[in-house]
Amino acid sequence: MTRPGHRPLLAALLAALALAANAAAPAQQAPLTLDTHVDIPFAYLREARFDPGADTPLQVDLGKMRRGGLDAAFFVVWVPQGPLTPAGYAKAVAQAKQKYDAIDRMLAKYPARIRLATTPAQVAANHAAGRLSAMIGIENAYSLGHQLANLDAAYARGARYVGLVHVGHDDLCTSSMPQADLGDPPVSDAGLSDFGRAVVKRANALGMMVDISHASDACVRDVLALSSAPIIASHSSARALVNHPRDLPDELLRAIAAKGGVIQAVAYKGFLKLDPGRELAEKALEARVAKQHGRKQFDDELDGYSPEMKQGLAAIEQRYPLPTLDDFVAHIRHMVEVAGIDHVGIASDFDGGGGITGWMDAGETANVTAALRRHGFSEAEIAKLWSGNLLRVWGEVERDGRR
Ligand SMILES: [Zn+2]
Repeated sequence: MTRPGHRPLLAALLAALALAANAAAPAQQAPLTLDTHVDIPFAYLREARFDPGADTPLQVDLGKMRRGGLDAAFFVVWVPQGPLTPAGYAKAVAQAKQKYDAIDRMLAKYPARIRLATTPAQVAANHAAGRLSAMIGIENAYSLGHQLANLDAAYARGARYVGLVHVGHDDLCTSSMPQADLGDPPVSDAGLSDFGRAVVKRANALGMMVDISHASDACVRDVLALSSAPIIASHSSARALVNHPRDLPDELLRAIAAKGGVIQAVAYKGFLKLDPGRELAEKALEARVAKQHGRKQFDDELDGYSPEMKQGLAAIEQRYPLPTLDDFVAHIRHMVEVAGIDHVGIASDFDGGGGITGWMDAGETANVTAALRRHGFSEAEIAKLWSGNLLRVWGEVERDGRR
């Protein structure tokens, strides 16, 4: 909008300044950006509000990826932890199928905009052709239903990393966050089970990355000792800065790097800044919104994207502000100091709890690159953080599988 009374001289001066600023900054080539952890709802592409080709309430849809310059994302086949019983396994297998089918529906509906990538070369080819890349990662291998053959089936459907465990111990591995209501014992020295060992070995043979985010420290140590290939943490930050069990201690950051792997720093509020006041306020809000919607328990998909939730979170933000991009870059900086610039990457955990001030959805992805520049990372370092390291590790895991 232009208001009357603008002075032409001022306008000319501003234009000249803008030109000078452009001339001073060398042309910056945008790095290929890759996010290793994006969740999708069970109702993805089954309800109009969750159609990623449209303008959605999701943090990641195709328009937001394009606008924000997010080129590639691992879409995650997540299932909640349940009991280690035949019925529990059957339910988890069925839930995982829903997610694979949803990703397939997206790929079938928008072939000109986004393509599946099952190799690092395909990510590069999609990028060169001006298309987005979708990769698939497993979060919680409980969804294999305790059948090793289901890992091969997941690979055949396109999954390229297998996250062993989630919140609560499973049949593969102990969790960094045991779940008392599932009868979990507290964290101990127990790490991988026999089935967990079999899955790691089979993933190595398939050339599939093993993801230790959510695993207990003991499990991470077991995987490091067993895996023939480098491993990844698809979404974990630094415990030296925030003492949360989901973050990784320096000793494990170093060990993952020493094995040639990569740790993808995650923009998840609770892992970047401890804020018990905000946590309590959010819990209370969730309970209130669920009740307003006539539900006993809060449901992420049914309640989480509602206007009531949005308004409530805006009110909470006034009192308990989210972490910022500076907080996120502080974790990246620490991880780079400990593990080295070749062993750190970036993840959002969007639509799974991610989102910080400045990177609330994929449409704001360019802000992350700008923050890294502001904090003094070079273009070459930013390219490694954004995708170079993850793609290198992925390629190494593929080659290890062929050997
Ligand atoms: Zn997670």
